[in-house]
Amino acid sequence: MEAIGVLLMCPVSNYLEQELDRRFNLFRYWNQPRPREFLAQNSDSIRAVVGNASAGADAELIDALPKLEIVSSFSVGLDKIDLNRCREKGIRVTNTPDVLTDDVADLAIGLMLAVLRRICMCDKHVRSGGWKFGDFKLTTRFSGKRVGIIGLGRIGLAVAKRAEAFDCPISYYSRSKKPDTNYQYYSTVVNLASNCDILVVACALTPETTHVINREVMNALGPKGVLINIARGPHVDEAELVSALVEGRLGGAGLDVFEKEPHVPEELFGLENVVLLPHVGSGTVETRTAMADLVLGNLEAYFANKPLLTQVV
Ligand code: NAP
Repeated sequence: MEAIGVLLMCPVSNYLEQELDRRFNLFRYWNQPRPREFLAQNSDSIRAVVGNASAGADAELIDALPKLEIVSSFSVGLDKIDLNRCREKGIRVTNTPDVLTDDVADLAIGLMLAVLRRICMCDKHVRSGGWKFGDFKLTTRFSGKRVGIIGLGRIGLAVAKRAEAFDCPISYYSRSKKPDTNYQYYSTVVNLASNCDILVVACALTPETTHVINREVMNALGPKGVLINIARGPHVDEAELVSALVEGRLGGAGLDVFEKEPHVPEELFGLENVVLLPHVGSGTVETRTAMADLVLGNLEAYFANKPLLTQVV
């Protein structure tokens, strides 16, 4: 029987690529010098697409693949997939929830500590030999700070649980109040930002949450407030973030994601109250392996007519 055609949009994990190669007829999209011609030539063979947080399946790609039956994403976020087009065409969509929650939440706490205690700057102080000429200046305590979370989903809740262990009072904003928590709910992001010291973005990226962190929110968070973004870059109006930080209207930022990754505003590079990470929230060997296994498990289940492991559409 002819192997099932799977299109991998960009390099993800070596393990996933090898397993896809072994089990399917694997096409590598990023290797194609002329993507349109490639799609036209192979559109009859491709029945599945595997994408991630940077390349998914937009309407143009979906329309170019008439035999497409499933999009299996190596990410929990679905913002790179045109879900409506998939629904219209009866294409299944799967993602990788839960397995990455702990790593992303761990990293959010790491960013809070790194920004407030200036961990990266302290490390630089030692490595550069600066310590021989003087102690590092005093920094700011993390324990007990008021943590506000936008989006109390899987990752948001995991951040809350961790921050509680640091005696941080927790509050949150999402579209609806959660009946099963005692955390303080605010019905607007500005109110949340006005009432916390550290604001964490942990919601899904949708048209409503694009630039949810705008000038008004940053001003409400204030010159001692810290913004942590471990969700998606476009949640934050980055130009406004740069001016808020440069002008001292915002106290600091810990960012794992950016509006135009991998491009990061260079104005941020010289700021010591900012910690910048290259979108590594789920980037551990353990989690990336579990994510790869979910992608493979969903594809195997689909083509064996079994229930999908993590179906979104
Ligand atoms: P989840 O369980 O589905 O939670 C998403 C949350 O977003 C929900 O609590 C939802 O709350 C909230 N939300 C959706 N629309 C909203 C809106 N208009 N306003 C406010 N909140 C809204 O997803 P998760 O597993 O926690 O993942 C969250 C996000 O983290 C993903 O979508 C992804 O973008 C990001 N992520 C980043 C990394 C990384 O490497 N940095 C890794 C994994 C995930 P309500 O429904 O109550 O409004």
